[in-house]
Amino acid sequence: MSFSPKALKTTLALSFSGLFFIGSANSQSINPCPDNRLSTGFIPTLTEKYELEGSGIRVFYIRSGESQIIDQTDANSNGVPDYVENVARQADAARKAFNLLGFRDPLESARYRAASYIDINLGLNSGNGLAYSEPSTYSAVPQRGGACSIRIDISSKLDKFPGSWSVVAHELFHLYQYGYTEFKRSWLLEPTANWAERVIRVGSLNPAPGAARPLPASMAEMQSQVFTQSFPYDFWSRLASLMDESDEDMHLPNDLRYATYTDGTLIFRDGFVRGFSFLSTVFQSLEAESTIVSNLNGWPPYLWGANQSSESHDVRILKVIQRTVSRTGVRNYEIDSFLAIE
Ligand SMILES: [Zn+2]
Repeated sequence: MSFSPKALKTTLALSFSGLFFIGSANSQSINPCPDNRLSTGFIPTLTEKYELEGSGIRVFYIRSGESQIIDQTDANSNGVPDYVENVARQADAARKAFNLLGFRDPLESARYRAASYIDINLGLNSGNGLAYSEPSTYSAVPQRGGACSIRIDISSKLDKFPGSWSVVAHELFHLYQYGYTEFKRSWLLEPTANWAERVIRVGSLNPAPGAARPLPASMAEMQSQVFTQSFPYDFWSRLASLMDESDEDMHLPNDLRYATYTDGTLIFRDGFVRGFSFLSTVFQSLEAESTIVSNLNGWPPYLWGANQSSESHDVRILKVIQRTVSRTGVRNYEIDSFLAIE
């Protein structure tokens, strides 16, 4: 879509009057979109843009230099490396599934209301993927078009992507998490992103259902097995197994269920997922809990800084999980012992 000067003028006028109204009324804040003025680093070097039509997902990349796409095969000869298209396809398909299965799209969250795109930058130098929690505009990077966006970085050198890779779905789910809650504790965010990325994988949990050890039954066990761990998969897999005893058919629309990468392979490797209704309920409750913590401490709702990753939130997050479990009505000795932790 292109703006005529007149339309642009009208849009700007509306924006300014909107801002003025909010400022003068001092009503609930709309999270602003800070201008990231960066003119160095790899983002300005990604001069090519691919947008999967109508998706609101933009992939930025480059064919030469340090951040170049490692595999520039273009089997469908549409001028875009398949690598780039497949990153966009995985993000788009996983996003549609998350949205249909009960999670709120990050761009619909209050936190990211100012953003209109999910940007994926193919230039991450170390690691496979990274999701950022702050929205930004990039006034010094012309190819960004002045738009406010939220950000994922993915390596441009993933081996044999897409293959069995699900890193794009994983990082995308981090954006969902950030749209709900300020709490940035690894024991909360990493295993649940691993759980969520299994939407496109074979199998629904890590470790497999039944292989996870029982839930902690004391605060000491919560500390040693969960709070102090970066990837306590056992805890979340056990919860998922107890809250949802069998893999559920996702019942995705056929166009989505059988969506493919450029080489015709299926994006969704099976049609099953486990416990997403429970997981989405946990994150809805964590959103309310984040608001409470903002108010209690006088922290701006979306600007907690280093307080985001404080271990002081652990027990509060546990209480949210316990209440969510309790409200399901599922009870047995193991769950009763977990619920008794205080
Ligand atoms: Zn992660």
